[in-house]
Amino acid sequence: MARALVTGGAGFLGSHLCDYLLAKGYSVICMDNLITGSEDNIAHIDSPNFEFVRHDVSTFINIEGDLDCIFHFASPASPPDYLKYPIQTLKVGSLGVHNTLGVAKAKNASFLLASTSEIYGDPAVHPQPETYWGNVNTVGPRGVYDEAKRFGEAMTMAYHRSHKINAKIVRIFNTYGPRMRLNDGRAIPNFLIQALTGKDLTLYGDGSQTRSFCFVSDLIEGIFKLHLSDVNDPVNIGNPIEMSVREMAEKILQALGSKSKIVERELPEDDPKVRRPDISRAKKLLNWEPKVILDQGLASTIDYFKKALNAQNSD
Ligand code: UDP
Repeated sequence: MARALVTGGAGFLGSHLCDYLLAKGYSVICMDNLITGSEDNIAHIDSPNFEFVRHDVSTFINIEGDLDCIFHFASPASPPDYLKYPIQTLKVGSLGVHNTLGVAKAKNASFLLASTSEIYGDPAVHPQPETYWGNVNTVGPRGVYDEAKRFGEAMTMAYHRSHKINAKIVRIFNTYGPRMRLNDGRAIPNFLIQALTGKDLTLYGDGSQTRSFCFVSDLIEGIFKLHLSDVNDPVNIGNPIEMSVREMAEKILQALGSKSKIVERELPEDDPKVRRPDISRAKKLLNWEPKVILDQGLASTIDYFKKALNAQNSD
């Protein structure tokens, strides 16, 4: 049985990855300091092959026994979170990557880094292929996340080149689905909660900026395929169907039959104007492309948000 370490395993993506690995027969150590993750995300797991360890991976990591693979997913990932935890974000993306790569080297384990479309910044090339080097404001408010992830990619490649670590880098584009926190602060959770509670939907700027939203199950499948592959260069995983943020807000109102209004709020600094993955590499090298259409993905996310909201209200 292969043994995996998932850092950030109690987070949105990390917990789905833990589920997926367990279903594929892996034994899983889930490590999380719970600053943005939650034990609620892993409470349903009832398996002798699963272990939760509360630990901040920005500090030395001690794992007893053999380890076959590491997935480094620990990091605040919502813009309001990395604005709230700027130093933790920088540390987990730099010291955390260094520590987890150190474990990979010591255990002779493979390593997969959760990187991000944010490394492309406010992109001057559209859609974004992996060969684009990006347009990031190092000293802006988003710089703490973007630069940590860029450093993480450089560190991962250095360990691959110098220590022959079997390393993978996934550049994750906007993803949504069950287990996003109600107060996550990203567009889809905000719009859903606002519509479900009869509040106005807060559109930042005029909502003409674009994003391309991938349902979480598609993303996790792509990541698992990358893990099994022999591709060491970065690979974009995301859904290339692009829409404006206003269109997404309207879609959510429609899906919920909500009468909430859409109101414009100030656009956050350095908010990327466009974003869409070029997924040619993932298609060619991993034989992967997203399958879940937006209506299906939204329905399943809405179902989760309704239940989570009810549970919160009955507390
Ligand atoms: N956004 C918005 N209203 C919100 C939250 C986000 O209009 O309540 C916008 C945000 O400015 C950005 C887009 O939605 O243009 C996606 O934001 P998100 O925080 O989901 O992630 P990002 O893609 O910026 O990392």
